[in-house]
Amino acid sequence: MEAERSAIEAMLPVGAIGGSGGHVEYGGMKEPAGTAHAAPDAPGRRYDLDRREVTELLADQPQYRVSQLWHGLYARLAEPAELTELPQVLRARLSTEPALAPSLGLSSETLTDQGRTLKWLWSLSGGAMVETVLMHYPDRSTVCVSTQAGCAMGCGFCATGQAGFTRHLSTGEIVEQVVAAARSCRHGQPPRRLTNVVFMGMGEPLANFPRVWGAIERLHTDLGLSARHLTVSTVGVVPGIRSLATKALPVGLAVSLHAANDALRDRLVPLNRRWPLASLMDACHTWREATGRRLSFEWALIDQVNDSASDAAQLADWARPLHAHVNLIPLNATPGWPTVATPPDGIRAFARALADHGVNATVRRNRGTDIDAACGQLAARTATAPALVAD
Ligand code: SF4
Repeated sequence: MEAERSAIEAMLPVGAIGGSGGHVEYGGMKEPAGTAHAAPDAPGRRYDLDRREVTELLADQPQYRVSQLWHGLYARLAEPAELTELPQVLRARLSTEPALAPSLGLSSETLTDQGRTLKWLWSLSGGAMVETVLMHYPDRSTVCVSTQAGCAMGCGFCATGQAGFTRHLSTGEIVEQVVAAARSCRHGQPPRRLTNVVFMGMGEPLANFPRVWGAIERLHTDLGLSARHLTVSTVGVVPGIRSLATKALPVGLAVSLHAANDALRDRLVPLNRRWPLASLMDACHTWREATGRRLSFEWALIDQVNDSASDAAQLADWARPLHAHVNLIPLNATPGWPTVATPPDGIRAFARALADHGVNATVRRNRGTDIDAACGQLAARTATAPALVAD
């Protein structure tokens, strides 16, 4: 895992990560202080603990208590205080055990789309804020999780990019967002099952690869989510895509493309200067050949910026050989970027042009736009870094 971190993070642009204090330098990058998977000064590490650490916590108890607690946290999605199968004295002890405290403090919860979209704003140790959005569809429930507080990638149209980077989230902080969503589904009216997880919230998941991959393994092994229902998004961290291609779990990949020529993409997605389109597509081909999974391209449609007929033709030239599916998302305008979304007629024309070039495209609306779920403006209003959320 250390080697993987070096391979990916050391190749990111030097100095790409700025932000608050509490970081240590390594390999030209900044890393949150503390252990590899825990947030700095994290009081709660409930979902960071591995089974060995839980066993140590219960060293004075019979072995089966470890399984009971693990099952309670991951299968029952319960608080330690709710584990009535444990003796009352032990339950009381675990309820006040600092290592089992939750990492996420609820700052706000907003429901919209007639109850079909739920957005949480969480406060983390150190004061960072992140968002999680749960979206219910007729056939599935998808949660969109954040992987970093803020983001260093600097995509100009994205509210998170405008706000800069604060810190990586730990594995436990990522898993806990999914647990909160799964619990909400289970206790909903009617009860539902959380089926999908997309790593498309605040942050660039592949810039936090070891912790994100730790979360993926935990979600698959302990929460029982199918790898095929987990999707990682990236703006183009090429070594991260290549690492995904080597993994046994075939998670999905969504590449936030937004521009199909280097001149425009250099402006919209600064990471393109480090890994231009040719090298990004090469990595996508490697990933596709290794996993056999369908690739998605995300395309935020920006009025008169990337919505012309020639943009569609260039996009199709990249998408066709990869058999990639294109998700078109009307840009959610942010205060720091003087552009607006392509109007509905233009969106339809762009989708038609892609179809004419032999590329499948779906127009997605930004779920929860009326509660700012689409671009993290709720977080911005509460004086912290916001997020781009697109599904
Ligand atoms: S679009 Fe994604 S990668 Fe780019 S700044 Fe926003 S959160 Fe970061």
